Amino acid sequence: QTLNDFLDLKGNIRVFCRVRPLLPEESCRISPPSLLTPDSTRLLLRVGDRRSKQYNFDKVFHPQSTQEEVFSEIEPVIKSALDGYNVCIFAYGQTGTGKTYSMEGSRSNPGIVIRGIQALFQQALESNHTFQFNFSMLEIYMGGLRDLLVPRSSKQRKPPALSIQMNSNGGVEIENLVSVEVHNFEQVKTLYNLGKRSRSTGATKSNLNSSRSHCLICISIACAGAPERRKGVNKIWMIDLGGSERLLKTQATGRRLEEGKAINLSLNSKLTQVLRDSLGFDSKTLMFVHVSPKEEDLCETICSLGFAARAG
Ligand code: ADP
Ligand code: MG
Repeated sequence: QTLNDFLDLKGNIRVFCRVRPLLPEESCRISPPSLLTPDSTRLLLRVGDRRSKQYNFDKVFHPQSTQEEVFSEIEPVIKSALDGYNVCIFAYGQTGTGKTYSMEGSRSNPGIVIRGIQALFQQALESNHTFQFNFSMLEIYMGGLRDLLVPRSSKQRKPPALSIQMNSNGGVEIENLVSVEVHNFEQVKTLYNLGKRSRSTGATKSNLNSSRSHCLICISIACAGAPERRKGVNKIWMIDLGGSERLLKTQATGRRLEEGKAINLSLNSKLTQVLRDSLGFDSKTLMFVHVSPKEEDLCETICSLGFAARAG
């Protein structure tokens, strides 16, 4: 299965690769580097003593690449979103390769989401138009949708189920999903932090959990009275995908196996249903494929690179 199949895409997609650095606790391992980034579009992977494979991407971010450098690819598509294009930004890769680092980052070194939202409000301020922004955040877990802006509490009544509907214009609407009108960066930041806390999979819990769910952020953009704009309402999606690792390696059994299957299925079903009106010709899609520099992750790395490099 290729990235295009998985996203059901024919349109405008750019694929970037980001290689994370060895972490301090891993650096004691001395092994020759198996991943080389000779220039900004190529990645060489040593697979044997003499053999290496080459992969081409729109851009390769090496282990020392900064969040700012990664964001430099995002800034122009934020502009496109204000011009009326749908934008989808995905973080793909094996668990532990830096998807959440790229999307969320840390407090002192924020990732794509925070920087993107900051740029969105800045650019809107500098434009001649008045925009209306709405923020939503949800999780796809075991093939089901969950609203991350509705606090989970066992005492509360179960929140209404989310369901995916098509409206008369062919647009996707998620029934019952909370959508909050936001006027500035601080408001979005507050909501984003709230959403992160209610993930079944948040940073406080183990990586094991986050490997099983997709986290989706949506900002819908409406702009009245701008005839040169492409259409009335469009969306920016920022998506931290569930871990791409194969089931075999994790030797999943029982419930974990079911969850694993559900992840793979929900890649193709719920996710593409939710994004149906946001992918394709009319959209700008960016996929960040994350890989680990570790020798022991070589198989996963080959899988991820093979899956993604065909897409570009
Ligand atoms: P994933 O979301 O893909 O499971 P994480 O984003 O949680 O992976 O990253 C795993 C670990 O690696 C975290 O401790 C994270 O801080 C660290 N990390 C990932 N990418 C980078 C990077 N580019 N620079 C520094 N540390 C990174
Ligand atoms: Mg993660």
